Amino acid sequence: MLDIDLGVSNIKYKLRTKLSLSYLLITLICVASISIFANIFLEKQFREYVIKNQNVKNQEIMNMISNQYGQDNKWNYDYISNIGMNALESGIIIKVKDSKGKIIWDATKHNTGLCNQMIEQMAQNMNSRYSNWQGKYTETKYPIVQVFKQIGTLEIGYYGPFYFDDNDLKFINNLNWFLIAIAVFAFVISLFFGTLMAKRISNPISRVIKSAELIAKGYYGDCIPEKSNTREIHDLTETINNLAETFENQDKLRKRLTSDVAHELRTPLTTLQSHMEAMIDGVWEPNIERIKSCHEEILRINRMVGDLENLEKIESDNIVLDKTEFDIAELTRNIITNFESDFVKKNIKIMYESEEQLIMADKDKISQVIVNLLSNSLKYTEKGGKVKVYISGDKDKVQLIVKDTGIGIPKEDLQYIFERFYRADKSRNRLTGGSGIGLAITKAMVEAHNGSIEVQSKLNEGTEFTIKMDK
Ligand code: ADP
Repeated sequence: MLDIDLGVSNIKYKLRTKLSLSYLLITLICVASISIFANIFLEKQFREYVIKNQNVKNQEIMNMISNQYGQDNKWNYDYISNIGMNALESGIIIKVKDSKGKIIWDATKHNTGLCNQMIEQMAQNMNSRYSNWQGKYTETKYPIVQVFKQIGTLEIGYYGPFYFDDNDLKFINNLNWFLIAIAVFAFVISLFFGTLMAKRISNPISRVIKSAELIAKGYYGDCIPEKSNTREIHDLTETINNLAETFENQDKLRKRLTSDVAHELRTPLTTLQSHMEAMIDGVWEPNIERIKSCHEEILRINRMVGDLENLEKIESDNIVLDKTEFDIAELTRNIITNFESDFVKKNIKIMYESEEQLIMADKDKISQVIVNLLSNSLKYTEKGGKVKVYISGDKDKVQLIVKDTGIGIPKEDLQYIFERFYRADKSRNRLTGGSGIGLAITKAMVEAHNGSIEVQSKLNEGTEFTIKMDK
């Protein structure tokens, strides 16, 4: 079959590698952009500075020559030669002519060798910096003016349009070395911190993975001790720990469920078997009483299987609700009336408080919920006890409370009582005839109505069930 590449590579990188590489990449991008920016921007500024500086120097030379002439209206050859030599040393080749055009001082004549050497040096500097440098030796003429009269001409020659001398070039090169040093430093620092951060993030994740693997193998006991100050990692470890706890509870429950079902079936089956064997062996005469007793055991098994089937239907997420509007207060009152004789028989006082509360719900299912809660209160409240039923509500919600002064539920059992076949005290509850399915069905029905059921209980003091539902 043809494999289509959907663009998701099969190569798996470690989170640590990816994070470290990202840090490096970001650093490289930053340093590269700073270097490019510095080279483009700073060099432009520097070039302007060099050109400005050259103009200032030219102006200075002009002023000095003009001042010299102004002192006694004569050219002082030595003085001008001095100015010319100084200018030559700073890379400026000057030529001074009088008003008639006669050369007074010319650097190229005075020291041809030095001039050529300097021009060559300038060209070399610029070519070393710019591979296709187009500069050439240029001369600019400035009139030397004294009291509105031109007394001569100054010709300044340099390598243009601008040039860097050795110091300028050294400055630019140093700047680049400095940037390279920063890049190396940033590279090392980012590698260090990147690895450190990646380690801090990936270590707890690796531990979570190990724990998840252990959970998958059925070891729920070791929770992750990791305390991270990274919100997501903290949440992840908490979730895995909760998951392990849930699985552990589910596992305990599953084991208990199996043993409970086996136990529930074994009792009637053993009774049936011994009765039948006694009759087959002729120990017992098969009279109608004994056959009836066998029949009762069969009915008990059947009821259990029926309960299980019911529960399966209710829990399989597709409970069909036949919703109608009815007064839950009235429904409860009717159910209490039906139960009244049982309560009286057991000498339990039943109290009821409610005003009309109209709700949109499946009347049969809500009625079963109330029956289950009331029959539990009846079962688990001893003679002389009290049961109170309250219904209250506002415009959107309704709340039903069934509270008894019965035997209560041990704290450690509270979280399990809504599970199938769970009975807080097996030996005690067998006597009451419960199978541990009633509350599981109740919860499933309440949740099918998007409602919630809560329980509060204290051993030997009593139990309170609260149901909350939308109207
Ligand atoms: P059962 O058929 O055993 O009553 P339920 O699912 O209705 O099954 O209840 C589960 C267990 O919760 C019961 O076995 C009992 O231990 C406990 N229980 C439920 N309601 C009450 C109550 N009102 N008072 C004390 N214990 C209760």
